[in-house]
Amino acid sequence: MPDDTDLLSAACHCGAVRFQVRLSDGFKTARRCNCSYCRMRGAIAVSAHLDDMQIVEGEENLTLYQFNTGTAKHYFCKICGIYTHHQRRSDPTQFGVNVACLEGVSPFDFTEVPVLEGVRHPSDGRTGSGLAGVLRYTSS
Ligand SMILES: [Zn+2]
Repeated sequence: MPDDTDLLSAACHCGAVRFQVRLSDGFKTARRCNCSYCRMRGAIAVSAHLDDMQIVEGEENLTLYQFNTGTAKHYFCKICGIYTHHQRRSDPTQFGVNVACLEGVSPFDFTEVPVLEGVRHPSDGRTGSGLAGVLRYTSS
């Protein structure tokens, strides 16, 4: 994996959307979420401040999806359908970024990924740790 303090290059599957991102706390922020949308999407997301992400190519190919309160903004490439990033509902100053879009990074590089309790969202008055569980990956 690349150095997670570097400015990282990223793209969707077809390459129409290209962006650069500097992560707010490196790969340590890798998370999944069990909310109704994320459980279907299935991506591992890492965190970046809004200012630390720059779309360098193909912004016109990004499509926005919103649901429920509409606070979170989920972006994906309209050509290949791959989720690139989303503006968080829990912290709108942050983007969640699809780790699988980062150059040189695979979602299977992470042996353990915490799963956040997204069903009972903090904005809905959730209490507790917010951790629903941990996903583990073991290569054969
Ligand atoms: Zn694409």
